[in-house]
Amino acid sequence: MATIKLELVTPEGGKVFGHDIDMLIVRSTAGELGILPKHARLLTELIPHAMRVKFDGAEHLVAISGGFMEVTPDKITILADSAELPDKIDVERAKAAYKRAEDRITAYKSSPKDSEIDIRRAEAALARAKARLLVKNISF
Ligand code: ATP
Repeated sequence: MATIKLELVTPEGGKVFGHDIDMLIVRSTAGELGILPKHARLLTELIPHAMRVKFDGAEHLVAISGGFMEVTPDKITILADSAELPDKIDVERAKAAYKRAEDRITAYKSSPKDSEIDIRRAEAALARAKARLLVKNISF
């Protein structure tokens, strides 16, 4: 079966993941995308989520906090703000980030007008924490 190369890099961690894969399912600002070998060229922005990477008959989850993806027919390159494979995720840290973001969102909703909370920032932090907990298979 044909495969496509996936290279995932971050400014901080360099190459986080590199493998020939069967399929990648990602969430972009335009919605969910499934990338198979020989995909048309594409450049898109990704939002924080748990990416699904399929190879060798299994599906692997990778947490990504947003970034850019370039697709050519034989290669996918993702430059992510940050990205973690399951073994790199600190669950307690992600749970604490989730709680902080949730509390900020609740406080904002109770009085949006006089709130000093940056709601977009809190929502993005919540999405990053959710992605990390999903990758670790932890419900929230
Ligand atoms: P926190 O509030 O806990 O810092 P965050 O979502 O604001 O979370 P980021 O700005 O996305 O953190 O990431 C900063 C750095 O910390 C990145 O290198 C990222 O990989 C790492 N990181 C963040 N959260 C975790 C986690 N739960 N486990 C492992 N690494 C993490």
